[in-house]
Amino acid sequence: MTACGSAAVTNPETPSSAYIHVPFCQHRCGYCDFTLVARKDHLIDDYLAAMKQQLATVEPGTELQTLFLGGGTPTHLSIEQLRRLFSALFDRFRLADDCEFSIEANPLNLSIEKIDFLNQRGVNRVSLGVQSFHSEILTFLERDHQPEQIFEIVQNLQARIPNTSLDLIFAVPGQSLSDWESSLADAVGLGIPHLSTYGLTIEKGTSFWSRQQSGLFDLPADDLAGSMYEFSLDYLGSRGLQHYEISNFARPGFECRHNEVYWTGYPYYGFGPGAASYLNGVRRQNHRSVTTWLKHVAAGESPIAEQEELDPESRAREAIIFGLRRRVGIDLAEFASRYGFSIPELAESAIESNIAAGLLEQTETHLRLTQSGCLLADSVVVDFL
Ligand code: SF4
Repeated sequence: MTACGSAAVTNPETPSSAYIHVPFCQHRCGYCDFTLVARKDHLIDDYLAAMKQQLATVEPGTELQTLFLGGGTPTHLSIEQLRRLFSALFDRFRLADDCEFSIEANPLNLSIEKIDFLNQRGVNRVSLGVQSFHSEILTFLERDHQPEQIFEIVQNLQARIPNTSLDLIFAVPGQSLSDWESSLADAVGLGIPHLSTYGLTIEKGTSFWSRQQSGLFDLPADDLAGSMYEFSLDYLGSRGLQHYEISNFARPGFECRHNEVYWTGYPYYGFGPGAASYLNGVRRQNHRSVTTWLKHVAAGESPIAEQEELDPESRAREAIIFGLRRRVGIDLAEFASRYGFSIPELAESAIESNIAAGLLEQTETHLRLTQSGCLLADSVVVDFL
């Protein structure tokens, strides 16, 4: 197994990270608006052929410091299908010795045989969609696993791939503060080195959206959601899991290096439906519809739906928005030297008003969100656009 830690990307302006989108799930959970298809496994062969074709555009031997397979559910693929995907990937990409190779997984897809296969192929980080340790919450979220199954699967996983992250969701209708506290305690009790916590949001177009519009449920009040978030910060911090990004907590050395590439504005490749890339200052996004993406690739056409070349000021403003997500904040001197603008020059009034509101704080060297600012991050960053 490849060692995994927090080694820095060696030349951050040269792309050495790749995201691969695997858009298949057994079932579309009622709250999910990600790019995926459910119960359409007959498309997997076409998808693998299209990925092979897309990856053929990469220079052979391109070295990666981080590789992230997300979805959807990449582990919904069988071992044989994963073998074909990995073969297409490793035809072009070469993993650096200390590469972080992550895969997103659903608990019930992780047989010991599949975990062993992933481990042998160099996967050294697994992000597991656990969401809750409470049966009623899991049922509400339309997840296919139950709490008692999580413990055995995580133990099997950690025995082989210790760098395991769990996703947990709070602010779910019917969830009490003590439910949330006990889910966090269960995760900590498993010795997990990384946790991602997300407040449930209801996106237009999902089945939860229609149900909410019909009055079938209401989200918990903002103050309960806020209490859950604040409890996460206090409790996980006291258990050695540092809050290093708005939604992410890690023991030292287990921060997700791939996501750090996004938050620090470094380039990356992106392949698959809906995948984004950032190369040579150009952001591109592939078609989100799986069938549209497949049709374009099969016809030998570009699967890119949108692209934008950022001018220097837009690049700097975007860097503020991503950089504020990190708890360490933005190094003011480094920012000015990298982007050619000082942050006050770009957004003096946004800084002043958010500091006055207690949502931002500035030291001699850094600008960062306060704890209250983390809760309202979306409204703070809008001021910097
Ligand atoms: S398993 Fe994850 S990606 Fe798949 S539908 Fe559910 S929430 Fe979305």
